[in-house]
Amino acid sequence: MVKKNQISVLRIGHRPFRDKRITTHVSLVSRAFGADEIFVDEKDETLEETVHRVVERFGGDFRISTGVNWKKIMKDFKGVKINLSMYGINVDEKIDDIRNETEDKDILILVGAEKVPIDAYLMADYNIAIANQPHSEVSALAIFLDHYFNGMELKKTYNGKINIVPMEKGKMVKYIPDEREALKILYDEHASEKIINHVKTVYELAMAMGKYADANLKLIAAGSLLHDIGRTRTNGIEHAYVGAGMLREKNIGDSVVNIVERHTGAGITEDEARNLGLPPKDYTPQTIEEKIVAQADNLVAGDKIISLDRTVQNYREKNLYYASEKIIKLNQELSKLCGEDIDKIAEEVRLNNA
Ligand code: SAM
Repeated sequence: MVKKNQISVLRIGHRPFRDKRITTHVSLVSRAFGADEIFVDEKDETLEETVHRVVERFGGDFRISTGVNWKKIMKDFKGVKINLSMYGINVDEKIDDIRNETEDKDILILVGAEKVPIDAYLMADYNIAIANQPHSEVSALAIFLDHYFNGMELKKTYNGKINIVPMEKGKMVKYIPDEREALKILYDEHASEKIINHVKTVYELAMAMGKYADANLKLIAAGSLLHDIGRTRTNGIEHAYVGAGMLREKNIGDSVVNIVERHTGAGITEDEARNLGLPPKDYTPQTIEEKIVAQADNLVAGDKIISLDRTVQNYREKNLYYASEKIIKLNQELSKLCGEDIDKIAEEVRLNNA
């Protein structure tokens, strides 16, 4: 979903005791159907906490503010203001105009509770009905957003700690472990001290690179700490593939599993995999997080950060010329993405750890 504008929802008339559940649902619908934030007129810390918890677990950067002056928000709002009301003009008649008008303008969508003051109707640019029949702010908001996005909001990805895997029957949830959980997984697999010390150094370097590149640090944290979990079973080149399999069995999210599976050297092509006796598929790192962890691992020997030159030399001494060229290229690509030379970032981390 390509979206240039910000979409805010303004919930008025919220009574913390009576409307607790319904305003929570208005907030969750806002988040799940593509809005960026919600304002709620009455202060309600419990509601804020509930929404923060959902965002923390399921991802995205949806925001909530409660205890706002709704009239001021409406008055000061620079974009297009929409009041959802059964008394308005039917959504079908106006949605194209609204979409065109808001291509580069923010939107504020007002939904009420019991009785909506007439001021809201007068201050709105559009009063929009989802059928001129009474129903609910939850359904009205969901249908309005779905019409606005033409259903594209349903395809939005959130990169959450928890990801639901769609299934015909049953329930499956995959998750992204945090640092504590990743280390617990390693200890549960009886990872040696050598592995633990190595992955901790790779983690430090990968996180530093990730901050420069503005990459997803949660994925980098989990991926770097778990990249060598396969070494608890084998030290061969297949340890990355084996490790990925172990993590799949533990319901770890694909975005982390792929980091682990694609971390050897600067990637292994399908042909190379065949020659190496690995299950034939492309093990080239694709995402920025996959590339960062692979290269951080290349620049760590044991638990020490080494220079790119040293890494390249090590590969050449083993006659791995082609792989060493790929590592040089990856270093150049990542230096560009980080806006800083990777060797410099590595040196910074090395000095911090000294
Ligand atoms: N009767 C109240 C009034 O308009 O003053 C509204 C009560 S209704 C339960 C609460 C909210 O649900 C409304 O403010 C509106 O945002 C939304 N809503 C209910 N029916 C709607 C409809 N047919 N079209 C658009 N919004 C609707």
